[in-house]
Amino acid sequence: MNTQAKPSKLIAGATGDWEVVIGLEIHAQVTSKSKLFSGASTEFGGEPNTHVSLVDAAMPGMLPVINEECVKQAIRTGLALKAQINHRSVFDRKNYFYPDLPQGYQISQYKHPIVGEGEVLVDLSPTEQIKVGIERLHLEQDAGKSLHDLSPNDSHVDLNRSGVALMEIVSKPDMRSAEEAKAYVSKLRTIVRYAGTCDGNMEQGSLRADVNVSVRKPGDPFGTRCEIKNVNSIRFIGQAIEVEARRQIGIIEDGGKIDQETRLYDPSKGETRSMRSKEEAHDYRYFPDPDLLPLEFDQAYVDVLAADLPELPDEKKARFIAQYGLTPYDAGVLVLERAFGDYFEEATKGRDAKLVANWVINELFGRLNKEGKGIEESPVTAAQIGGIVDLISSDVISGKIAKDLFEIVWSEGGDPADIVEKRGMKQVTDTGAIEAAVDEIIAKNPDKVEQAKAKPTMLGWFVGQVMKATGGKANPQAVNELLKSKLGI
Ligand code: ADP
Ligand code: MG
Repeated sequence: MNTQAKPSKLIAGATGDWEVVIGLEIHAQVTSKSKLFSGASTEFGGEPNTHVSLVDAAMPGMLPVINEECVKQAIRTGLALKAQINHRSVFDRKNYFYPDLPQGYQISQYKHPIVGEGEVLVDLSPTEQIKVGIERLHLEQDAGKSLHDLSPNDSHVDLNRSGVALMEIVSKPDMRSAEEAKAYVSKLRTIVRYAGTCDGNMEQGSLRADVNVSVRKPGDPFGTRCEIKNVNSIRFIGQAIEVEARRQIGIIEDGGKIDQETRLYDPSKGETRSMRSKEEAHDYRYFPDPDLLPLEFDQAYVDVLAADLPELPDEKKARFIAQYGLTPYDAGVLVLERAFGDYFEEATKGRDAKLVANWVINELFGRLNKEGKGIEESPVTAAQIGGIVDLISSDVISGKIAKDLFEIVWSEGGDPADIVEKRGMKQVTDTGAIEAAVDEIIAKNPDKVEQAKAKPTMLGWFVGQVMKATGGKANPQAVNELLKSKLGI
C-alpha cells in the first residue's frame, strides 16, 4: 500500500519537507425506516421529540430489540467495501454522561465489530488510483440533539435522532494529502449510495467525518495525531487537513511537540482549536450490553445479501470501458451515481456509445449543473438524448444544430426527429446549395482568397462564413471539401 507520498504531495517547511498522514472515521447513518433498537421512525426533519419510543427515551425497564434491517445494511456495506464479515459480533455499552444521551451510555461495538478489514480503491485522476485500507465497520446508536438557542435560560433536548443506527467506518492511516482524503470520502459516499445503505447526505448529517491528522519527515515513524471531530462537508475535510498539518509543522519546527488531542475545525476562521486533550479523554468503561445477545449469523445469510448487491462503481467502470470502449475518464464520470450509469445505458442501446457518453457528460450534465438540477430532474430523457444522437450519426443534423436541438428539447420537450422535420433543421447535404453559398463567399472576398493560398489555416474563416450563410445547416464535411478544391489548398 502507498506508505510514502510522492514528492509533489509533500509540504515544504522551514526544516525541509513534511508528509501528512491521515486516517478517517466516518459516521454514516444507516438507511432504514426505524431505529437500531426501536420501532421509532428515522425520518429527517420531524417536529422535535415526535420520533421517540420509550426505548429511545431510556424509560426504566425498556429493552432494546435489534432491527434486522440495520444488520443487513451493515453487512451489505461491508461486502461493498470488500471487507471481512464477522459472523459473530458483540454490542457494548460506551458509558458517558450527556444531556442528549438519556441512557447514560451509547450502545456500540468495540472489541468485536460486525465488519473487519477491507479496502477501497480511490480515484485521484483518470489514471491514478490509491488503495485505502478499512480497519473496521461497527454499528452504533446516534445520540439526541441539545438545543441551546431556543431560550436565554434553558437548554432543550430533541431525541428524534436518539437511537438512529450509524455505521462507523474506520480507515487505516493510508492517506497522504487533503486531496486523497477528499477523494476517499467521495468514493465511500458513492459506494454506500450504490449499496443503498446510507443516503450520503452530508448537509443533513447522514455522513460526517472525524479526521485524524499527523505529520512526519518522509521515512520517519508516524507522528502523534490530532483528531478533528465531526467535519460535515468534503470541502471542509480538505481545509481542516491543510490547516491542521500546517499548525503541527509550525509547532514541531519551533521545537515543540504535538499533544494528542481532540480538536474542532472552524470554517469561518479557517483554523482548528482544541476541544479536549488526551488527559481529559473519557474512560468509557466499555462492557458487553447485558440486554443484548451477541449478534450471530451464518455464511448462507451473508451469501443471500451478496447475491442481491447491485453492480458496484469499480465493476461498472471496468464494464463500461470493456463493453462500450469508453475512456477511463468518461466511464469514471458515468459511475459516480447509479442513476448516471442507468441513464447512459438507457440512452446508448446499440448507438455509438462514445458519442452518447459525450452528449450525456458534456451537454446534459453541463446543463444540469448550470441549473443546479440532479439527473432525476432532467427535462431531457435518455430516449430523447438517444434520438438526438441518432440524428447526428445519420448525418441528418450537424453537431452544431444538435446543440440547438438539445436546447429546444430541454425547454419544450418533444421528439427530436419531429422537431428537426417540422422546423426545417435538417442539414443541407445537397452540394448544389452549399456550392452556391461557397461561390458567393469566395466572390465577395478576393483578398481573403489570396491570403488563404499562402496561409491554409484561413480555411476555418471560410467554413465559418459558409455555415453562417446556410444557418449552420450545411454539412461541415461537404463545406470543407468544396472550399479546399475551390481555393486550391
Ligand atoms: P481510537 O480508537 O483512539 O480512535 P484508532 O487506532 O482506532 O484510535 O484510530 C482512529 C483513526 O486514527 C483511524 O482512522 C486511524 O487510521 C487514524 N490514525 C491512527 N494513527 C494515526 C496517525 N499517526 N496519524 C494519522 N491518523 C492516524
Ligand atoms: Mg476513534
